[in-house]
Amino acid sequence: MLLPTNLRSRFLVLFGIIFLLGSGAGYSLFLWYSDDIVRTLGSRFAERNALYEKSKILRVLVREITLAQKMASSPVLRNWVINENDRHARGRAISEMEDFRRLFRSHSTFLVMANSGHYYYNDDTGSHDPYVPRYTLSESIQKDGWFYATLRGNQDMQLNVDTDRHLGVTKVWINTVVRASSGKAVAVAGSGVDLSDFIRSAVGSSENGVTNLVMDQNGAIQAHPDVSLIDFASVRKATTKEEQNTIFNLLERADDVAALRQSMADLAAGKGEVQTLELQVQGRRQLTGITWVPEMRWFVATFAHPEAVPHRLPLPTISLALIAAFGVVLLLAALIVEIAVMRRLSRLDEAARKLGEGQYGIRLSDDSPDELGRLTRSFGQMAEHIANHTANIEQQVQERTGTLERMAYTDFLTGQLNRRGMMARLDMERNRLTRLGQQMGLLVVDIDYFKRVNDNYGHQIGDRVIVEVAAILHDNIRDYDACARWGGEEFLIGMFGMNHIEELKMVANKLLEEVRNRRFDFDGTAIAITISIGGHLAIPEESIDTMLQKADNALYAAKNNGRDRLVVHGENLS
Ligand code: GH3
Ligand code: MG
Ligand code: MG
Repeated sequence: MLLPTNLRSRFLVLFGIIFLLGSGAGYSLFLWYSDDIVRTLGSRFAERNALYEKSKILRVLVREITLAQKMASSPVLRNWVINENDRHARGRAISEMEDFRRLFRSHSTFLVMANSGHYYYNDDTGSHDPYVPRYTLSESIQKDGWFYATLRGNQDMQLNVDTDRHLGVTKVWINTVVRASSGKAVAVAGSGVDLSDFIRSAVGSSENGVTNLVMDQNGAIQAHPDVSLIDFASVRKATTKEEQNTIFNLLERADDVAALRQSMADLAAGKGEVQTLELQVQGRRQLTGITWVPEMRWFVATFAHPEAVPHRLPLPTISLALIAAFGVVLLLAALIVEIAVMRRLSRLDEAARKLGEGQYGIRLSDDSPDELGRLTRSFGQMAEHIANHTANIEQQVQERTGTLERMAYTDFLTGQLNRRGMMARLDMERNRLTRLGQQMGLLVVDIDYFKRVNDNYGHQIGDRVIVEVAAILHDNIRDYDACARWGGEEFLIGMFGMNHIEELKMVANKLLEEVRNRRFDFDGTAIAITISIGGHLAIPEESIDTMLQKADNALYAAKNNGRDRLVVHGENLS
């Protein structure tokens, strides 16, 4: 991976990656968790709603059922059923039923005799004569099956949603069995609640995405906002095994069907009052609350779509706020790293770079007791140390170079310039004098008969003579002039800026005289020494070789003319 080479950028990249990963992970976690919250809320909502629907249905129906049961158990009614043609019994029974009728929500009652199949019915329309059977039921007619099913069933009360074939009304019928004192079922009596009224008051929900339904213990739908899903005449169909509209038809997955059946069985068996399930209903994920209404042997179910579950959590805002908070925390962390580490490191880095370039005047201060503080202080000490050390070495080098230069240019025996030193000086002076238009005097000095000194007194004495002659020569020329040991006992004197031959002669004669008159006395041994000098007043335009040659020639002449004298180049010997 391509990482930037500087630490600050690396940190930025690192913090960026941490931010992306952290907020990604946090966001997924939040989604998962909020989904869980919504699901829990949804389950609670479905549960609560189912119980609420149950209470609404009970409010509508329990009173009706109680009334119907009260009516069915009336001895007056039973007496008439047993003696249908007893006018007296009928009169009393009809009048009692009329009393009940006014109490029922729909203001209607019915009574069907088992023996005759006579169906008595009355309601508020006043179009019926309560004393005359409306019609006669027959076992051979399929639509009348509900009656025979109820009569033979072992439940004294059955609810049945059905359209009466003769009356043309669709109602939730409350069918209660009238029994003779022997226990034999002799009639079915009851009332009917108008279906649209029932649906409105029982399963109608004002909330979007929420559906309530009522179903019997087989799952056959008894009430649903969508009337086409209602299973009519469920009581009959259950006995004849006809195809029914059940809740299971709405489900798509076999395991949902199994789970729902299990919940229904548990609830009917009294295990808990309400259960929640997550079902795939008609293509949508629905949180389902389901409860058992034992009074009616019905189930009430509420489907709530998770998105439709009402909650007040501003989920997107919360997640954005969490991510923003995480970002702020990271920014603060980055700021702390910047102040606590990066700035100090940058200063150190800059100082190290300067030190590398040879700038030693670095002043770093960091009083912090941490590693960087210690490192900075150590670095400062190191830089100071290096600066001192370097200055020291430079001074030493200068000194040594000076010494070496002096040694290279100095004759070790006499302390005067050696040949190399003199050549360098001549070169320099020639250039300088050329600029100034001046001349220089050259004297080549050679000790006379020096071999004899060596031979007679030994080399050591010879050396001391050389040293002393050198000192005489040096002491008798100007400071600015130069004296060099040119060969064994031969010297070269340069007098720079000398423009007259008379001056040259004066100096040379002075030298001749000084040496001649000097008493060379070594440990009681007195030696007479003289020198011969070849002189030349050179113009700087001459080459050094030429001017030396001329002086040498003059010396040669001096040696050949009796020694202890000066011969100037170009002058006739007098
Ligand atoms: P002349 O008058 O012709 O110069 O005679 P000379 O004997 O001096 O002859 P020359 O200059 O040719 O001889 C120089 C002698 O000096 C040769 C050598 O033995 C001796 N010599 C050269 N250098 C040294 C030295 O450093 N120390 C000593 N003791 N003797 C040296
Ligand atoms: Mg000599
Ligand atoms: Mg010589």
